[in-house]
Amino acid sequence: MSKCKGYAATTAGAPLAPYSFERREPREHDVVIEIKYCGICHSDIHQTRDEWSDYQEESIFPMVPGHEIAGVVTAVGNNVTKYKVGDKVGVGCFVDSCRTCAECQRGLEQYCSVQTVWTYNARDKEGAPTYGGYSEKIIVDENYVLRMPTNLPLDACAPLLCAGITLYSPLRHWQAGPGKKVAILGLGGLGHMGVKLAHALGAEVTVLSHSLKKQSDGKRLGADHFYATSDPETFTKLANSFDLVINTVSAKMDWNQYLGLLKVDGTMVVVGLPEKDIPIGAFSLTARRRSLAGSQIGGIRETQEMLDFCSKHGVACDIEVVPIQKVNEAYERVLKSDVRYRFVIDMASLSKD
Ligand SMILES: [Zn+2]
Ligand SMILES: [Zn+2]
Repeated sequence: MSKCKGYAATTAGAPLAPYSFERREPREHDVVIEIKYCGICHSDIHQTRDEWSDYQEESIFPMVPGHEIAGVVTAVGNNVTKYKVGDKVGVGCFVDSCRTCAECQRGLEQYCSVQTVWTYNARDKEGAPTYGGYSEKIIVDENYVLRMPTNLPLDACAPLLCAGITLYSPLRHWQAGPGKKVAILGLGGLGHMGVKLAHALGAEVTVLSHSLKKQSDGKRLGADHFYATSDPETFTKLANSFDLVINTVSAKMDWNQYLGLLKVDGTMVVVGLPEKDIPIGAFSLTARRRSLAGSQIGGIRETQEMLDFCSKHGVACDIEVVPIQKVNEAYERVLKSDVRYRFVIDMASLSKD
């Protein structure tokens, strides 16, 4: 075992504070990664505050969150073939899975039917708790490590590992591309990546945001159209017009209203996670053979495809870099949607404690 410095919530809802813990010695297929940057995802806040207890078996404290991890390889196990010291690499929301079930075989490790080992707040196959990216290093099996773009700033690429793939996977699965009309509902950390990626894929992109406040930003990110959902006319004007609506909003809202924006055979994909159940009327779906679907991050193969796509198209996240000492402040600002569009922690700041 080796010592590792990080930041943790020692109990549910406690502010994050410096915390020392142990990482395993690298095994033959392990990659040791010095973490340079880690994005702040809204789910870090939910989990450190134990707000998902209804959906999880247990929450493990002290909890070191962080699953948008970008860094550099500092050592590799004897049998590692994919990476070498000095490579720019990333780790996303999971660090292992069963590797043998039908889903793992298809490269859908995020839907592993046995056990997806999440990057933090989970237990690995030996039962040891996993600790995330708000720390100086992480040790991960090479098969769950991603290659980061070398032509883009590493800090701005960190959030691709959760926010980026969360949008890329449904855009690809439901074939967003030339000739397709795609609406991105909500222009936050997830939504802004949806706009960039859908635009780069060649789709006609519409942003549906609460107000017109971010209109010029939306256009800059690649949106062709921008509408306020607080204006009831939006729903009349845009009725039956989209092939795909990606819903990134985690607040309570009437999904039926948004299903009404889909044309025949259109699909609304839910990627935001409202806390309460939302009722759906059958007519919202039957009237135009519409579908309501959900999607959760992406597998390793597809995440690598997304990173390569971003490298080729020059797509990265709009970020605000913060030192780890400001993490609790950053959480409060995320809760107020006061960030454009993702916080990324500069992990070099850890040495200042
Ligand atoms: Zn996330
Ligand atoms: Zn599996």
